Amino acid sequence: MITESRTIPVKKRIAIVAHDNRKPELLDWAWANRELLAKNELYGTGTTGKLLEEKLNQPVQRLLSGPLGGDQQVGGMIAEEKIDMLIFFWDPMSAQPHDPDVKALLRLCVVWNIPVASNRASADFLFTSPLMHQDYTAVQIDYSTYLDRKF
Ligand code: PGA
Repeated sequence: MITESRTIPVKKRIAIVAHDNRKPELLDWAWANRELLAKNELYGTGTTGKLLEEKLNQPVQRLLSGPLGGDQQVGGMIAEEKIDMLIFFWDPMSAQPHDPDVKALLRLCVVWNIPVASNRASADFLFTSPLMHQDYTAVQIDYSTYLDRKF
């Protein structure tokens, strides 16, 4: 399929989400990466965002809590090209009331070719990438054939 391109800017809009069982690990990771996080624009689901703001002393644009629609808000922002990257420490050991929203959010990361980390090792690899410090041209699948389909 023909592709288009999209720029992920040097100052990235990063959405951060953690399920309850993974919030301590996320906060620990965020503290270890506070200097680089401070150079970017942070968004978070309700509780994660509040905890991050307290921990980092950095503004975090807070959306709704995940189970109340926050994950869907992040997904919508990805589709509108308002989020460049997702750090999402989801819980692999417990069912969530909003599991369909989690799946939808991860799906949109693939649709829009957004870098996403679901565990600490991946987040470390992302954050030590030289691409964190420069603009990046991401290829984007051209969905015009889908949009122009005839009925
Ligand atoms: P929370 O939501 O940050 O409000 O806890 C996270 C989630 O469960 O998706």
